Amino acid sequence: VPSQNPQRILILGGGFGGVYCARALERHSNSTENQIILVSRDNYFIMTPLLFEAGSGVLDPRHAVSPIRRMLRRTVFILAAVESIDVETKSVAVRSPQGMRNIEFDQLVLAIGGITNTSLIPGSHDAFQFKTLRDAIDLRNNCIQMFEEADTETDPERRKRMLTFVIIGGGLVGIELQGELTEFIENIRPTYPRVKKEDIRFELIEGGKRLVPELDEDMGDYAAKILARRGVNVRLNTRASKIENGTVYLPSGETIAANTIVLAAGVAPNPLLANLPVEKDKHGRVIVEPTMRSKSHPYIWALGDCASIPDPEGKPYPQLAQHALREAKVLAHNILAVTKNEPLKPFIYKSKGTLAALGRYRGVGKVNEFKVYGFLAWWVWRTYYLLQMPGFSRKLRIVIDWTVALFFKNDVTELK
Ligand SMILES: Cc1cc2nc3c(=O)[nH]c(=O)nc-3n(C[C@H](O)[C@H](O)[C@H](O)COP(=O)(O)OP(=O)(O)OC[C@H]3O[C@@H](n4cnc5c(N)ncnc54)[C@H](O)[C@@H]3O)c2cc1C
Repeated sequence: VPSQNPQRILILGGGFGGVYCARALERHSNSTENQIILVSRDNYFIMTPLLFEAGSGVLDPRHAVSPIRRMLRRTVFILAAVESIDVETKSVAVRSPQGMRNIEFDQLVLAIGGITNTSLIPGSHDAFQFKTLRDAIDLRNNCIQMFEEADTETDPERRKRMLTFVIIGGGLVGIELQGELTEFIENIRPTYPRVKKEDIRFELIEGGKRLVPELDEDMGDYAAKILARRGVNVRLNTRASKIENGTVYLPSGETIAANTIVLAAGVAPNPLLANLPVEKDKHGRVIVEPTMRSKSHPYIWALGDCASIPDPEGKPYPQLAQHALREAKVLAHNILAVTKNEPLKPFIYKSKGTLAALGRYRGVGKVNEFKVYGFLAWWVWRTYYLLQMPGFSRKLRIVIDWTVALFFKNDVTELK
């Protein structure tokens, strides 16, 4: 696909950064000024905060995602995996079931996000991850499978392993997942008459001295208290040293044998960035100017989880959706400004708050410096993400799922 006039803007990645950048470009320019192409390997955008409920079955998994094509108007969407980026010839090689092809560009936007960090703990590849829709479905299937087997298992050791659920990482993703998992498991347990509440073991392992470093200390304590009340053994200052044969090894020499070990220990850079000849930070993210433009290659831009964007103090912004979607709008403005020879804007954003849902009508977080706990936090969290979900029909489907979930138990059908 050779480039042409008008300018071709190629966006890689259909997450918060990529899709919202395309939408902003569409809104502020027209087809005589540019052609927008977005490449992503899934034809849907994931509302990641809703992934927990998609995993527990409160939401139909399809309702936590939105079809990218319906979110865009004139952007050309290409469903393909990006294989390599050639910054010198300004071309990107992509693979789809039809084979390989090259797409040329004038301006390139990197919005490819990150991957689950498997480099911290040896053996991490044997653990479940929680980043994609497939991850959420696989984890749910596995939990149900464990109950199916444990219900008739007679060997006590094997049974214990089936009913032990370990999450490694007590950040935002780890605690939200833990909250939803305790609720899901408590909800499905009565379907398995031979599994008693006291047979189930939850372990949350966090290397730092408190949970959710993204929030204030007392909020981490609150989350720990809520989870402990639900039977979770919260271990702080504990770094898992390895995972091997379904066993988590701890520095004390203690081991935890579990058939369900989930890794929620942070984000690593997308492997596509490894060979890209642009400046990167120590985490492998692309270092860009506050305008999100590459220092070395002015026709390359980066945002979201794959970028290191300095705030006014020079500290990189956190890897959060609320940042990525705002970065997208400023980045779109800047690309258009370059083509019109107008001044660029730096990205400056002060977070309005962060909320974490803990399942079972509980949450914790901060909104505009106000600390919120319990039901209120949970309610604000749900309402906010409902409103964020693109499209009226998706919103309606989510509300229906939530309403049904109030009155009925979680489904135990495996989705294979
Ligand atoms: C479970 C979970 C819950 C979260 N909850 C919150 C929350 O409550 N609040 C919050 O602010 N943040 C939250 N986050 C973080 C937030 O999701 C990320 O910061 C945000 O998604 C970053 O946006 P992005 O566009 O940079 O990357 P992503 O949203 O990850 O998008 C990257 C896109 O690139 C595509 N891609 C990657 N590689 C290739 C390739 N080689 N070829 C083709 N396509 C490719 C991917 O498929 C994806 O569509 C959560 C994250 C997770 C995993």
